[in-house]
Amino acid sequence: MAANTAFVIVGAGLAGARAAQTLREEGFDGPIVLLGEENERPYERPPLSKGYLLGKDERDSVYVHPPQWYAEHDVDLRLGTTVTAIDPAAHEVTLADGSRIGYAKLLLTTGSSPRRLPVPGADLDSVHYLRRLADSDRIKESFESASRVVVIGAGWIGLETAAAARAAGVEVTVLEMAELPLLRVLGREVSQIFADLHTDHGVDLRFGEQVAEITGNGGRANGVLLADGSRITADAVIVGVGITPNTQLADAAGLEVDNGIRVDADLRTSHPDIYAAGDVAGAFHPLFGKHIRVEHWANAVNQPQVAAKAMLGQDVTYDRVPYFFTDQYDLGMEYTGYVEPDAYDQVVFRGRRDTREFIAFWLAEGRVLAGMNVNVWDVTDPIRDLVTSGRAVDAKELADTGVPLTHLLRRSDGTG
Ligand SMILES: Cc1cc2nc3c(=O)[nH]c(=O)nc-3n(C[C@H](O)[C@H](O)[C@H](O)COP(=O)(O)OP(=O)(O)OC[C@H]3O[C@@H](n4cnc5c(N)ncnc54)[C@H](O)[C@@H]3O)c2cc1C
Repeated sequence: MAANTAFVIVGAGLAGARAAQTLREEGFDGPIVLLGEENERPYERPPLSKGYLLGKDERDSVYVHPPQWYAEHDVDLRLGTTVTAIDPAAHEVTLADGSRIGYAKLLLTTGSSPRRLPVPGADLDSVHYLRRLADSDRIKESFESASRVVVIGAGWIGLETAAAARAAGVEVTVLEMAELPLLRVLGREVSQIFADLHTDHGVDLRFGEQVAEITGNGGRANGVLLADGSRITADAVIVGVGITPNTQLADAAGLEVDNGIRVDADLRTSHPDIYAAGDVAGAFHPLFGKHIRVEHWANAVNQPQVAAKAMLGQDVTYDRVPYFFTDQYDLGMEYTGYVEPDAYDQVVFRGRRDTREFIAFWLAEGRVLAGMNVNVWDVTDPIRDLVTSGRAVDAKELADTGVPLTHLLRRSDGTG
């Protein structure tokens, strides 16, 4: 292989696979090497806590591309291959077996890893984290035999897993340190809706709880000991306390790292021939005027397309508004926008909260920062337009389902 013409991608997840695809779509005909430490070809993770965990989606449906796609597009996919170092000066990466691969351009799509719970017993059997396909398999299996599970952490993963456990007929206790689920992401007004949703489905939600220990018997978890001395018995414990970006390689190579690998709006790192995208990248966002790191599916689909084009020398900028979705029980929602905790001064609801069919908008000084549509569909585009317009809207009109969202946008433009 003509090493110095190769585009090497480290991390064969969704972002890595999308980058390889874009490079070929854009006409790059040089070598592409896609290196992944997992033994699975690139797959999508959202089904692992939803359809796949529920047993509704087939395993085959989670993969980004069919197996033959890589050979057909001359993408040298190497699975079970861990990159242990980057040498930016030599333009080489080192693999776990000591061999080296040279690159002309390098893309880091190393994603993120679940944060570990720093308490005794966290490594017992039947304590589960959820990131990989095999994790989802193990959790699904535990639902078959468990009568009660404890979920630690009421974030997206914890809540989706709780919903799947309830669907499997398992008793669920969710333990959360904060006062409400998803409090930092959604704020009090909307977090309460998720708390009610789970309570209505029979989940025992407990807030302000600190886990002191996961207790076990014969190497298997049998419950949780709380800081106040109380105990909860469980056949399995699922931990969802957040993720940390896999920045170790970038750090060791001297690249700038600050809540993710720091990249410009064209997704280039502090080294001119190295790029980063997906969960691991903290990218400068022109709309928000700062670096943000987005741990969501849509970002892992779209950002690598821009990174690939930038690697090919195109003049590109990643300026998409963050977007994510969740499905829990009969609630489906999409969230468009970006709000830091406490950065909003008003939440406006449009629609019916009692039947969980509404849009919630987070506003600051009358401007829409984000919108979340719950069981209301085909509104992502106008919500995104409201966010990007940066114009103040009338809160009363925003709440009025009789006023079309597109109409509000025209008014905020001064054209309505
Ligand atoms: C269970 C679950 C459910 C989710 N549900 C949703 C959802 O409903 N909505 C939503 O918007 N988002 C959801 N997400 C988030 C979404 O899946 C992630 O944002 C997305 O997977 C990020 O893709 P990525 O390619 O950047 O990183 P990853 O998917 O983490 O892939 C990175 C890959 O790089 C590999 N790697 C790391 N270091 C090395 C190395 N040194 N050498 C070789 N390979 C390496 C890793 O093993 C991994 O395979 C969910 C995530 C999980 C885990």
